[in-house]
Amino acid sequence: MILPIVLYGDPVLQRRAQEIPADFPELEALIQNMFETMYAASGIGLAAPQIGQSWRLFVLDAELADEELYKGQKRVFINPIILEESGDPWPYAEGCLSIPEIRGDVNRRAAVRLRYEDAQRVLHEESFDGMLARIIQHEYDHLEGRLFIDLLSPLRRRLVQKKLQLIRNGKLRPEYKHRPR
Ligand code: ZN
Repeated sequence: MILPIVLYGDPVLQRRAQEIPADFPELEALIQNMFETMYAASGIGLAAPQIGQSWRLFVLDAELADEELYKGQKRVFINPIILEESGDPWPYAEGCLSIPEIRGDVNRRAAVRLRYEDAQRVLHEESFDGMLARIIQHEYDHLEGRLFIDLLSPLRRRLVQKKLQLIRNGKLRPEYKHRPR
């Protein structure tokens, strides 16, 4: 089921999400719906707060970012914890399904080490780099109530203010299914 994506201005995007308990009901269906929603909007990652559910869960499909490098990298992260970030920060023009038509360079560390549960609730510790690390850092930020626009340079942030206002007022709407503002 394709769910409406929550847009910038909705307070759920600025809230710290809750841990998912062991007995969380219908988790499988939620994950399935999140993938469907992400693919329908041509996204490469989606965090639960972006569908209005303030839980510590995100999904991604890095194959959509680089078909060769990330073949089969369709992933689910439940209750992730960033253990370490390392390497030099590098800039990349990020976008976000909750903030349509805005992109901007964000500097992030090159590698990230994560503790998380997969869709079967099996605990892992794993390191990621490149685009995969980038997507994880972006989606993890959603669980902390942080958006990529918070990490833009002051100049870039000023330049996107008008568009942000339009999104907030419901005057800039994406093509994909979203929650009206
Ligand atoms: Zn995002």
